[in-house]
Amino acid sequence: MSTLAGVLGFPVRHSRSPAMMNAAFRELGLDWRYLKLPVPPKRFAETARALPGSGYGGANVTIPHKEAALRLADERGEEAAAIGAANTLTFAGGAIMADNTDAGGLLDALGERPGGRSALVLGAGGAGRAAAWALREAGAEVAVWNRTAERAAALAAELGVHHRERPASADLLVNATSVGLGAEAEHAVVEALRLDGVEAETVVDLVYGEGPTALTSWARARGARVVEGSEVLVRQGAHTLERWTGRRAPLGVMRRALGMDGV
Ligand code: NAP
Repeated sequence: MSTLAGVLGFPVRHSRSPAMMNAAFRELGLDWRYLKLPVPPKRFAETARALPGSGYGGANVTIPHKEAALRLADERGEEAAAIGAANTLTFAGGAIMADNTDAGGLLDALGERPGGRSALVLGAGGAGRAAAWALREAGAEVAVWNRTAERAAALAAELGVHHRERPASADLLVNATSVGLGAEAEHAVVEALRLDGVEAETVVDLVYGEGPTALTSWARARGARVVEGSEVLVRQGAHTLERWTGRRAPLGVMRRALGMDGV
C-alpha cells in the first residue's frame, strides 16, 4: 500500500504542492501519494494525530495551522521552535516531529549569501517570522515592516532585528505579506506595500500564482534580481521530501510540475 502524505490547510484548494510532490515521488520511484487535506482549525489537532495510524508518513501544514502544528508535536526541530511555527510534520515510531522548512527553503532559493547585507522583510505573519529569522541567522542586517506596525515592533523585539515605520531601500527585499495573492494590479501592490521610492538589488516575492506576480514585474522593470515564490516553494518542498524519505529531491522535475519557465 502507498505511503500517504498531504498538505493540511484551510483553505488548501489553491495549493500546488500535490502536483510538485507527486512528480518528485514518481521520479524517485517511491510509492508515496500526496493529497490535499482541507481541515478547519477546530478539527486540526485530532486530524493530524490520526494521520500516522491511517497510513501517512508525513504532512505539510499551511495557513492557518502552522502554530498549532508546532504545539501538537512530540518533538520540535530547532528552527521550528525558534520561529514558533512548523510547516512539516514527520510521523515515525509513533511520534510526531515538527520542522520548519520555509526558512531553509528561502535561503536556498535566494542563491546568494545574505551575510552582511541589508534585508527588509515586508510582513510580520508566519512567513515574515520565518524569513526574518532565516536572514538574521544567515548574518543579514534585518528590518521588518508590517501594515500593522505593532506586530512588526513585537516581532523585531523578539528576534532582535530592526523594525521600520515605512519600507526603505535595502539590498534584499522580501515580500512575506499576502499582498498580490489576489492578482492585484501593480499600482495597488506598490501602494499597499508603500514601495514608492524603494529600491532593492534582489526582490523575493513569497506570493506565487500562475504567472509572474505584479511585484516581480515591478522589480524586474527596476533591474532587480527576482526570486519567485514558486522557487521558494520548490526549495521548502525539497527539504521536506528529504526529511521524509532520506532521498535527494529532483528539483528540475519539481519545477516542471509547477510549470516554471526555463526548466
Ligand atoms: P499571515 O500569517 O496571514 O500574514 C499575512 C501578512 O500579510 C501580515 O503581515 C498582514 O499584515 C499582511 N497583509 C495582509 N493584507 C495586507 C494588505 N492589504 N496590505 C499590507 N499588508 C497586508 O500569512 P503568512 O503565513 O505569513 O503568509 C504570507 C504569504 O506568504 C502568503 O501569501 C503565503 O502564500 C506566502 N507563503 C509562501 C511560501 C512559499 O513557499 N512560497 C511559504 C510560506 C508563505 P497585518 O499584520 O497588518 O494584517
